[in-house]
Amino acid sequence: MIIFLEFSQLQSTTAICPSLFNATSAQDGILSRMRLPAGLVTSTQCELVTNITNQFGNGEIQITNRGNLQIRTSQALSFDTLLDLQDYGLASSEANTDGLRNIMASPTSGIDPHALINTVPFVKQWNFYLANHPELEILSNKFSVCFDGGETISVSDRPNDICFVAVEFDNEIYFSLHLGLGDRGDSPSAIGRLIYPEQTLQVLAALTEVYREYTEQKLNQANSCARPPRLREMIGNWGVESYLQLVEQKLGYALRRSSLELLSQESKIGIAYHHLGIHSQRQLELAYIGVVIPLGRLTSLQFHGLGDLSRQYGGGALRLTPWQNILITDIAEAQIEQVSQEINDLGLSISANHPYAAIAACSGYKGCKAAFTDTQADAKKVAAHLENCIKLDIPINIHFSGCDKSCAQHHPSDIAFVGIQSKDPNYHEVYKVYVGVGNTDFGRELHSEYSAKDIPNLIIQLLKTYQNQRRDSTQTFREFFNRQGLS
Ligand code: SF4
Repeated sequence: MIIFLEFSQLQSTTAICPSLFNATSAQDGILSRMRLPAGLVTSTQCELVTNITNQFGNGEIQITNRGNLQIRTSQALSFDTLLDLQDYGLASSEANTDGLRNIMASPTSGIDPHALINTVPFVKQWNFYLANHPELEILSNKFSVCFDGGETISVSDRPNDICFVAVEFDNEIYFSLHLGLGDRGDSPSAIGRLIYPEQTLQVLAALTEVYREYTEQKLNQANSCARPPRLREMIGNWGVESYLQLVEQKLGYALRRSSLELLSQESKIGIAYHHLGIHSQRQLELAYIGVVIPLGRLTSLQFHGLGDLSRQYGGGALRLTPWQNILITDIAEAQIEQVSQEINDLGLSISANHPYAAIAACSGYKGCKAAFTDTQADAKKVAAHLENCIKLDIPINIHFSGCDKSCAQHHPSDIAFVGIQSKDPNYHEVYKVYVGVGNTDFGRELHSEYSAKDIPNLIIQLLKTYQNQRRDSTQTFREFFNRQGLS
């Protein structure tokens, strides 16, 4: 491995978006983020992260909604620690491109019986390409790439700049090219081009190179403080077709066109809890277990324990999901019961009906300067209240956002809370409350200002109304409230 660190180099702590070499100073410590392409982390890597967290951190490990790992430490990571992380493959060998967003793939790539193609090799190749192209460091660190192999646990709707979505067309497998054209948080859209799997990396490199040249031009024109443009800004400026023309010039061939209607039929929505519990794999007599990680946070002991289980009974690696949970894969069906029991002994659940299975919260004001509320603490209170007061027979997706940017989730929830600045001086923390689907991105507005302390009781009220008045147990919370008047 080529090491680019210099002896004088320490982790900087001034980044807005954390990485390993540029961490962020937050209220609750120095936040370092490890990119894990496709969310894969081996049991040996789990051991190193556990040791670092125990030695320098607060004993807690967090999974992000791009399948990264985050740790909080009391001081910047030392040179030796960064070298260890590089050595174990947890930091890029090229510090400059380590800050680019994690490469996303379905957590069930390669193991889903219904997938069209295994995308893990594409992720690995693209990661290798990034490590060998330090010139890409000028790109916006929000530049994001995703591969969706047509798995049941789809990731094609997750916000990304470029997404390759496997489709079957004329009895052949292609990737349909999707680009992020809309607003922040929108899913990428099919643009009517099909890519042969063997050309995918070449096409991705050309898409990236045209964007890099645009970025370089813009940065040269602007003053030195200007931020690099996002890919969607470039596309907004040029239009998709002009962008693709330049890409095709670089490639020396035209991309295959296809009708948009046909491709948009392939779009799927990833559901936060469908991967939880026990599921059969493509590989005969093997299964995976999806473990609920409350708000994406677990102790280093639990993390280490899951890593050990994967080594002892599984394929030796964990998969972190964009819904902030963990899969242990490649477990012999005969050992599923034993592994489930050991997960339980670690204080974790595998049930999709667990209150934490479908609760998401952004980092809130302890980790983000834009937040109006302590989303993490409020979500924990709700989960504890649900555990004590009601039995869920169907997962309910509840989402807490500290402001209206909605980093933790980009689709309507069953119930959404959005932190706002209170107009009433007596209210310490308040949220707007939404239910079901409505005319805003968050759903139908139920309350324009609701005190955080009253939220646990409000949720119980809503759930009891739903459980007592729904048509039958197949009617979802969202269907029920979409038909109800709100008063
Ligand atoms: S949703 Fe708002 S408060 Fe929460 S992490 Fe994103 S920017 Fe920060």
